Amino acid sequence: GGDGVPGRVRVAVRLRPRNAEESTADADFADCVELQPELKRLKLRKNNWESETYEFDEVLTEFASQKRVYEVVAKPVVESVLDGYNGTVMAYGQTGTGKTFTLGRLGEEDTSARGIMLYMETIQDLLDPANDNISIVEDPRTGDVSLPGATHVEIKDEPSFLELLRLGEAHRIAANTKLNTESSRSHAILMVHVKRSVLGEEVAIPSESDKSSHFVKPPKPLVRKSKLVLVDLAGSERVQKSGSEGHMLEEAKSINLSLSALGKCINALAENSAHVPIRDSKLTRLLRDSFGGTARTSLIVTIGPSPRHRGETASTILFGQRAM
Ligand code: ADP
Ligand code: MG
Repeated sequence: GGDGVPGRVRVAVRLRPRNAEESTADADFADCVELQPELKRLKLRKNNWESETYEFDEVLTEFASQKRVYEVVAKPVVESVLDGYNGTVMAYGQTGTGKTFTLGRLGEEDTSARGIMLYMETIQDLLDPANDNISIVEDPRTGDVSLPGATHVEIKDEPSFLELLRLGEAHRIAANTKLNTESSRSHAILMVHVKRSVLGEEVAIPSESDKSSHFVKPPKPLVRKSKLVLVDLAGSERVQKSGSEGHMLEEAKSINLSLSALGKCINALAENSAHVPIRDSKLTRLLRDSFGGTARTSLIVTIGPSPRHRGETASTILFGQRAM
């Protein structure tokens, strides 16, 4: 895994506690996974006797606090962003496993923010939902990615940032309701731009007249710019072979397209491959400058305990494993 190494992905797995229904209906059945957090291992049960063991950079049980999750998943990325590097924290997993719960508390940096949503390869501004055709602009020279059509808000303090996050979240819920679906069939992205003034290094320069003396150049403030990107991915569950038709099928295809494009890019990074297929989807194009290279990335894969969703849980675990 990418323990503190820029350009590699750090991967954590988080188990959601059983909900009320799972606690009663599945009371007689064991969880589909068994976690060994000290060993950073997870066992996926095959049956009563056999299981497969996987290792992650972090294994977070159903008892892990939000604070602990922040510390192991987001803090290294946030600190690196404050040092001037771009960074990404993403949550991947089946609908209902805790992606939004996990990301909801993150992103508390006091600077500018925008909330946007990707739906079927279109980008909607969650701070101005009528604006639903935002384009991605890439600087061919620097590789910097920007969204000039999206709302940019300068953040003064924490309460105003939280207010903005609430507004974006309300618009996201409204959009999902309009699509008449409980599961989130879109990716939600929050970008926080950080500008930080740092004092320049003091440089000793020999004077012209006297080689033995020198003066110290007054420190010049430098402005470091970076961004933190939080990605709450669409639910990873498979398209039902029956069930999906017409528009829903097109929607499912585009979700699959972007999630598989993301998976391919993460694999390419993990394998140190020269070719990272970033252009394959808008999601990956959007992450181009905050993913790989000098950027720091954390991926948290969220899973549920229910033996009924063992198949989905297995596929989520595999997605996380391929990123390492
Ligand atoms: P997702 O975004 O992956 O669809 P949610 O974040 O909406 O899933 O979580 C589904 C439900 O489970 C929510 O009611 C949420 O509060 C709850 N939940 C998720 N993760 C946890 C957790 N670690 N501890 C307690 N409740 C959780
Ligand atoms: Mg969600």
